[in-house]
Amino acid sequence: MKQYTPMIQQYLTVKAQYEDAFLFFRLGDFYEMFFEDATKASQLLEITLTSRDGGQSGRIPMCGVPYHSAASYIEQLVELGYKVAICEQTEDPKQAKGVVKREVVQLITPGTVMEGKGLQEKENNYIAALIHEADDTYALAFCDVSTGESRTAKLSALDEVINEISTLRAKEIVIQEELDELVRKQLKERLQVTLSIEDTAEEQEDFQALMEEVADSALRTAVSLLFHYLHRTQKRSLTHLQPVIVYEVNQFMKIDFYSKRNLELTETIRSKGKKGSLLWLLDETMTAMGGRMLKQWIDRPLIDPGKINERLSMVEVLIGSFFERQEVRELLKEVYDLERLAGRVAFGNVNGRDLVQLKKSLQQIPVLKELLLQIQSPAVHKLSKAMNPCEELTDLLERALVEQPPISVKEGGIIREGFHPELDEYRDASRNGKNWIANLQAEERERTGIKSLKIGYNRIFGYYIEVTKANLHLLQDDRYERKQTLANCERFITPELKEKETLILQANEKSVELEYELFLEVREQVKEFIPQLQELSRLVSELDVLQCFAEVSEKRQYVKPQLTNSRELFIKDGRHPVVEKVMDSQEYVPNDCVMDEEREMLLVTGPNMSGKSTYMRQIALTAVMAQIGCFVPASEAVVPVFDQVFTRIGAADDLISGQSTFMVEMLEAKNAVTNATRQSLILFDEIGRGTSTYDGMALAQAIIEYIHEHIQAKTLFSTHYHELTVLEEELSRLKNVHVSAVEQNGRVVFLHKIKEGAADKSYGIHVAQLAELPDELIERAAALLKEFEKEEAAASPKVRVQEGEKQEQKTVVKEAAGQLSFFEEEPASVSSKPASPKEKHIIEELKSYDLLEMTPLEAMNALYALQKKLKKS
Ligand code: ADP
Ligand code: MG
Repeated sequence: MKQYTPMIQQYLTVKAQYEDAFLFFRLGDFYEMFFEDATKASQLLEITLTSRDGGQSGRIPMCGVPYHSAASYIEQLVELGYKVAICEQTEDPKQAKGVVKREVVQLITPGTVMEGKGLQEKENNYIAALIHEADDTYALAFCDVSTGESRTAKLSALDEVINEISTLRAKEIVIQEELDELVRKQLKERLQVTLSIEDTAEEQEDFQALMEEVADSALRTAVSLLFHYLHRTQKRSLTHLQPVIVYEVNQFMKIDFYSKRNLELTETIRSKGKKGSLLWLLDETMTAMGGRMLKQWIDRPLIDPGKINERLSMVEVLIGSFFERQEVRELLKEVYDLERLAGRVAFGNVNGRDLVQLKKSLQQIPVLKELLLQIQSPAVHKLSKAMNPCEELTDLLERALVEQPPISVKEGGIIREGFHPELDEYRDASRNGKNWIANLQAEERERTGIKSLKIGYNRIFGYYIEVTKANLHLLQDDRYERKQTLANCERFITPELKEKETLILQANEKSVELEYELFLEVREQVKEFIPQLQELSRLVSELDVLQCFAEVSEKRQYVKPQLTNSRELFIKDGRHPVVEKVMDSQEYVPNDCVMDEEREMLLVTGPNMSGKSTYMRQIALTAVMAQIGCFVPASEAVVPVFDQVFTRIGAADDLISGQSTFMVEMLEAKNAVTNATRQSLILFDEIGRGTSTYDGMALAQAIIEYIHEHIQAKTLFSTHYHELTVLEEELSRLKNVHVSAVEQNGRVVFLHKIKEGAADKSYGIHVAQLAELPDELIERAAALLKEFEKEEAAASPKVRVQEGEKQEQKTVVKEAAGQLSFFEEEPASVSSKPASPKEKHIIEELKSYDLLEMTPLEAMNALYALQKKLKKS
């Protein structure tokens, strides 16, 4: 240490306590970083790396950002998953002996940002804490610091932990030092979160009130760990934290992470954005807090039919009250984010404008309540009655604040006239003084006869009398004391002017001071209302989401789903809500779906691009929409309540591929097969595609049989393995359906219509035709395939030998080799023009392809490459 200057020594002492954070060390108007922090930050933030004399050890790396623009740099670092410790000067440099005292006043972390870009209006920002128990279960607690909402749950396995945290999109997890390395690694790799270590998990007095509902000791530990971390890092009042809610994962429909992604519930697979997701389609919320609640509802569909029906009937009522609903929407538009505002009040960073917005929001509530009473529904009336408009608070804010206060809270102009007598007096004094000065100017002009005489004010000299040089001779009196000489005028003061000036300035100063005090008082009073505001915010959000469902359902002509206890699913004219919305000119083709005791599983076949995946997803989305309490895209729908939804997509079809391998596909399939129950919905979309044909087909069949025999969940299984359709004969609860297509002039036209029975053709090459590959190439490919089929038939005994022991059970697989029928018609004759050497070469290449070993996508790519070569030749 000795080798460094005293200031660098101070820096190092502080830094030692915040090793995992960038230390923003306040030096005058800059936050400086040193050593490794400096080298790393200069790269991340693209700022210049300099150096500074560090003492005997020579120069040390340094970089810095100006104090006034620090926020955006902090945001950038936090966005990247880093933490930033803000170290301020905590004593006046003028008074300091030696190095100015400095302390960290806040640690900003990805999970605890309170403002800025990191905080999306319609999204929660959660931070989680995790405890790993000796019996290999987990206790999870999480909190949104900006809204004060906290929850906790027991989880039985790491997979469940990963699922919950990825649903929450928590950016930071607080853990204990002793958490095992393996778990840490999984959390880091699979969730890409910041891990933060907190030593203390002891329960504390301060937290007791928040933890009343939490009985389980592991949960209490997790919550305490989280709260300790929040207090340690935020170093300020967290009075807005709401009582912790205990929940169980099986209170809700379980949809694991992959399924959520596949169904594009809250973000799309491709862009990872909201646009194109179910959330995007449904989001007709008018408030930020409603937007957040909508997302929470989509993330956690209900399984209690009573609760689902409550929501559904509210939506029904709201659909029936068109005019009232439109008025509700208008009113909600004026309601500010009460929930986050309450958080900022507790944090102490609201200004006059925020409080005015709070006032305006609260002013809507009585009108809203009245309006709801006009809707004829006991449930709506109940909601109206439950809303507490916090009249006292509205009244306070109306009396206290002017209509348009400034951003700054320290420069006055916030408090309304008549709110506080003393303030009014100061203001009068200052106003009278100003009048007096205006009068004085008139008097002085009269007395001296100088028409251009002016009284002005500046910060250095205060009030002065200004006389141009040409008129100086008219000033005879020695009352005028010269203060300042300018190019063409001189400025004077008089004793009476100075006397008044003191009065005015004092009054001004006092009034600004008093205003700030009054503002703080008002803010303290608002704090008292935080719990009421949070409750109000919850009710308003609920109303907002329900009106949103009504709005979308009416606009898009959805119907109220009827929940059934029998294991029956009946959807008439079902649509995929998002595909339907984004298809502009074309008509979406509606499809029915019937699944009952005899039709537990549907095997969906049909050409590529015919609509298999869309059909399966629309059924899952219909289930999810029904269970969040929204109407569904169909003309009639009877649905059971599903406990879980699984969707698995074959690796070759998986758009996120790259990291996706056949292994992942199988792991996902395993997860579904082991966790699904009779009450679950399973979608398997071209499972088995990621491996070679026989292998994949065998696996697909085995999976179907297993589900049919052991799980009996409602299952939709799409496949391009045509050969699997014979399973219908063996498995009593499995039925074939297919997406129909017709051939017109040798081309496929997709009808997107689901029909009973198996598709009778594979239209592989027709898709290539649709892609407008040259006719010659298509014809040649058809001919080659024909040839290949012949060869394959001849070679099939060899295949059988290879397939070895699988042979006896897998009848279907055994026969497959002779049956592969990419193209059933006699192909048109191939061009008779002799091929050039290059063309011959290409043909040889085409011949060499082992199509059975290729996925359709690979085949397409190979065709594409050949075509490119042909075009060149
Ligand atoms: P598959 O899984 O059979 O290859 P997809 O489900 O991916 O086919 O559908 C391919 C395309 O067909 C979709 O992107 C969509 O544009 C269109 N499509 C699917 N179903 C319908 C439908 N019912 N009505 C209209 N267009 C549809
Ligand atoms: Mg598909």
